[in-house]
Amino acid sequence: MNGKLLDEVQYIKGVGPKWAKKLAKLNIETVYDLLYYFPREYKDRSQISSIRYAQIGEEVTIKAEVIKVEYKKIRKNFDLLKVTFSDDTDVLNGIWYNQGYLRDIFEEGKFYLLSGKINEKTWKKYKRKEIDNPVFEKIGDNSSVLNTGRIVPIYSLTEGLTQRRLRRVMANALKKYSSYLDDKLPDFLLKKYNLPGLKTSILGMHFPKSDKHQEVSRKRLAFEEFFYFQLYALDKKQKNNIEEGIQHEAVPEIEARFLSELDFELTTAQKRVWKEISKDMESKEAMSRLLQGDVGSGKTIIAALSFLESLANDYQGVFMAPTEILAEQHYLNFLELFNNFDYEITLLTGSLKNPERREIEEKISAGDIDLIIGTHALFQEGIEYQKLGLVVIDEQHRFGVEQRHSLKEKGDNPDLLIMTATPIPRSMAMLVYGDLDLSVIDEMPPGRKRTATFWRRENRRKKIYSFLKEKIKEGRQAYIVCPLIEVSAEMPDLISAEELYEKLKNGFFADFSLALLHSGIKEEEKKEIMLQFRAGKIDILIATTVIEVGVDVSNASLMIIENAERFGLAQLHQLRGRVGRGRDQAYCILISNPPGEEAEKRLEIMTKSSDGFYIAEEDLKMRGPGEFFGTRQHGLDDLKVGSLTEDQALLEKARSEAIALVEIDNWREKYEDLLQIIEKIDLKI
Ligand code: ADP
Ligand code: MG
Repeated sequence: MNGKLLDEVQYIKGVGPKWAKKLAKLNIETVYDLLYYFPREYKDRSQISSIRYAQIGEEVTIKAEVIKVEYKKIRKNFDLLKVTFSDDTDVLNGIWYNQGYLRDIFEEGKFYLLSGKINEKTWKKYKRKEIDNPVFEKIGDNSSVLNTGRIVPIYSLTEGLTQRRLRRVMANALKKYSSYLDDKLPDFLLKKYNLPGLKTSILGMHFPKSDKHQEVSRKRLAFEEFFYFQLYALDKKQKNNIEEGIQHEAVPEIEARFLSELDFELTTAQKRVWKEISKDMESKEAMSRLLQGDVGSGKTIIAALSFLESLANDYQGVFMAPTEILAEQHYLNFLELFNNFDYEITLLTGSLKNPERREIEEKISAGDIDLIIGTHALFQEGIEYQKLGLVVIDEQHRFGVEQRHSLKEKGDNPDLLIMTATPIPRSMAMLVYGDLDLSVIDEMPPGRKRTATFWRRENRRKKIYSFLKEKIKEGRQAYIVCPLIEVSAEMPDLISAEELYEKLKNGFFADFSLALLHSGIKEEEKKEIMLQFRAGKIDILIATTVIEVGVDVSNASLMIIENAERFGLAQLHQLRGRVGRGRDQAYCILISNPPGEEAEKRLEIMTKSSDGFYIAEEDLKMRGPGEFFGTRQHGLDDLKVGSLTEDQALLEKARSEAIALVEIDNWREKYEDLLQIIEKIDLKI
């Protein structure tokens, strides 16, 4: 970027220290920030109407001459400025209250543009059209018309700042600095997609000459944004692949034996993704692959097959889960899955105490352990893997591109597989996981019954509990999910897990076995509770969203979600995924008195659909990318122009162009400019 664009904004004409402070509130500190502060919408005031044909109630723009200026003090603190305009077809009054200072601005005989809503008033028996408090602009002096008589930008403001001032400042900045906007987007791309240059586009975003001008400007900037993000990710991926990866050898006999011991067949989708993954593992390049599959689609078996291949090649495998509960669960699962194979498996989490931990670490570095399952602790200092071949990360979307690649430094560029049950819409996956190849399990194992989902209001609670009681008596288990751990004074309407637990334990469900699970409970205790729940010793688990990811107890087929309106769609889908994992018909009951239409719509989508991808798309549309993952993610907020929901086609084009570009020999030398741009990107997602 040209250094001039990093000039402080206060040196722009019309800014100065006072306004610079206001602009800083909008995160505008440099000229660059200002030029990239785009309008939130536009008002088309480019059509000039004649006074005579302007309709009462209509919003119009008039071009007219001042014929009279009258100023009246009506009483203390109340004055009126009435300016009479004429445009050859008729006359019209412009009325301003308490803005007497404007009276010197309007000169008789000069022409002005006025915009506003037409109404009609009777002055001394004559009916006359008028506009109250019109937007106005004098015609003919040197400065360009910014506020009316054109397509006008509307910006998000901060207190004290007006549209008028910001437009003026923007115009001044554009005048002085737009020639420093160097276009780095390769020429062939501009030509191929018929996109305007950078300067034209920035102008077109602020002061478009036409709708078309605005549209192509936006398109160009969105394309550019997507293109640079993709290039950034692909650059990382390519660098990663320069270093040779591990070339696993296929182990068909072992694989066949493992599969024959399962009591089911792989689905077509599972077979396909396994082919994709094994091909990567068996190539010289390091694998960086995302495995996406809805909850219950059977990703674990795929991880198992991958580990099996790596272990059979005498490598170590590392399996990382986001929580201790999940790590433990995977650990138990893999002990079972690899029961007939002679591999050493161990669990390593943060709560492991020292002598024991040291011992495990030593075994790992000596190569005595083959598969290590755990949490973030797996990548802490002090752990040296002897021969790391494969890293699998489960349910993980909280890593940035940088972190993903640094994970691999624990070994000699091992293969990396990331598994996620969040059915990320394709557009978002492309942006967030641009450095990964994508495999999708888009099919559920056969015979899976859809979880029957209902939305009920508060007043049906008794009925719901009776239903629950009946089902539990049949031997089933249930989750009740609450939005809070404990009662909150700030949110008195929300049901907390602690309060509900006390109430139900001593009331309606006194004859049953209940337990409480939330993030405030010690790890040891949590594990114990999960063990008991798995063993069927607990009937109802009253929990917070700690159970959101991965918890897998097939006999638990009932779920109640309290204050369901408080959860996002993707989250509700994840929660619901905890049930319906066994043979019984599963039920999910959303209890909610939704506060508005949007919440109602979310609940309805949940009752109608069980398709994770559809739900995710709807969620993205409703909440926008920043909120999509539940926690705010910086990277996605960096999109200033492009929209993940509306610009999918453009994003696909940008991605395929970025892929083509990094295939060019020596592209880094040939497109040094681009390299400089992507070096500044830091996409934490
Ligand atoms: P995910 O991790 O994708 O949510 P899991 O791997 O935990 O799903 O699988 C969910 C359940 O489905 C497990 O009990 C698993 O044994 C079972 N399962 C996996 N693949 C199949 C299949 N092809 N046919 C039948 N059951 C399967
Ligand atoms: Mg899983």
